[in-house]
This record gives sequence, C-alpha cells and structure tokens, in this order.
Amino acid sequence: MIELTLTELAAGSIGLAMILAVFFTWVSRWSTRNAERRSLRRRAICRLCLQVIEDSSRDRIFHCPHCGAENERGRDRSLG
Ligand SMILES: [Zn+2]
Repeated sequence: MIELTLTELAAGSIGLAMILAVFFTWVSRWSTRNAERRSLRRRAICRLCLQVIEDSSRDRIFHCPHCGAENERGRDRSLG
C-alpha cells in the first residue's frame, strides 16, 4: 500500500487539478478556434449588395439570395 502524508496528498491533488484545468482550457480554445475557422469558410460577401451570406455549399459560384447576383468565392475577381 502507498503511504502518503497529508502534505503530499494535498500537493498531488492541487497539481492534478491544475493539469486538468490547463488541459480543458486548451481543449476549449482549440474547439472555439475550429468553430470560427469553419464559420469563416462558409461566409461569403455579395459583391453587388455587400450582404454577408452563410452558404454551406462547396460550389465556387454562388447566387446571392438578396439580389440574385452571381458571385465567386475566394480571391479570384474574374466575374467583376
Ligand atoms: Zn447580393
């Protein structure tokens, strides 16, 4: 059987609690960062009416639901 003094038990408990707090903080931040990245990937701005649209389709060209204009995702501005 392992014999511990009260001091060792208290120090071990506090150390374990601190390690768990750091771990869960890291998991929470990682999850939030992934959610933000996913949201930004879906977000697009119409070039005609400047509405921000959340579009989950993977198509390169999407139609604005507000004005019906064709828009292209990404940095390519060939549609004007
Ligand atoms: Zn539009």
